Amino acid sequence: MRKTETKIKKGKKGKKQTNKKVKAIKSRKRKHTRKNTGKRNIGRKNITRVQRGGNTFNISIKDVYDSINKDNFEICGQAVQETDAHNIQLIYVNKGEEKLNRKPASCSTIVNYPMVWHTHPKVSKYYPSLVDIFKVIKHSSNTSYIFTQYGFWHLYCPDEYDGFDKLNENPLAIEVNKILDEFYYVSGTGREYNSEITYQLVDELNKTIQPHINSFRIAWYEATDENLSYFV
Ligand SMILES: [Zn+2]
Repeated sequence: MRKTETKIKKGKKGKKQTNKKVKAIKSRKRKHTRKNTGKRNIGRKNITRVQRGGNTFNISIKDVYDSINKDNFEICGQAVQETDAHNIQLIYVNKGEEKLNRKPASCSTIVNYPMVWHTHPKVSKYYPSLVDIFKVIKHSSNTSYIFTQYGFWHLYCPDEYDGFDKLNENPLAIEVNKILDEFYYVSGTGREYNSEITYQLVDELNKTIQPHINSFRIAWYEATDENLSYFV
């Protein structure tokens, strides 16, 4: 979860270097000020000023789950966490189109936030899409939470990578897509939960992606009260 790992990054070299220095300083500072809250660190600490306006509002994790269970569309937004000691606050930004005839209906936050979240409602698959996975790699966002009826996914990639604009032509993306396709069939089209195969999927995705993108990680948390208590 450290953001200071040295990595070959492409593009905007000058800017990146500066960022790296700043990140290194921030990270050192954080080490000294970090409180031991006894909680696992599942979120990245993004101190982001929340810009109010439009139709955005704070949404509780309970209301997010109400939507997953009753709505046939995704909802999405920005997530903020002031410090490690704080729970993650979800901010509602938008909703996706209604899911009709199993048509994909993804929700867009319109603006790119560093930490984002979206739902996969009960009527859809509970695992991440190819686009969901590469979103944190391409860096429209570096942290993404995907809430589903059975639990949530945490995707994280502190470094930014180019070359993933055309996912259907990228060898790594093609390999990942194959893994997701297989999962579709063993999970009852992504609707039937089985914890063993879900954790296997996590391992397989990490093992496949990390040799190429080594700061990438994906994790799965079942929807227990304890796991959901990381969110306000
Ligand atoms: Zn998704």
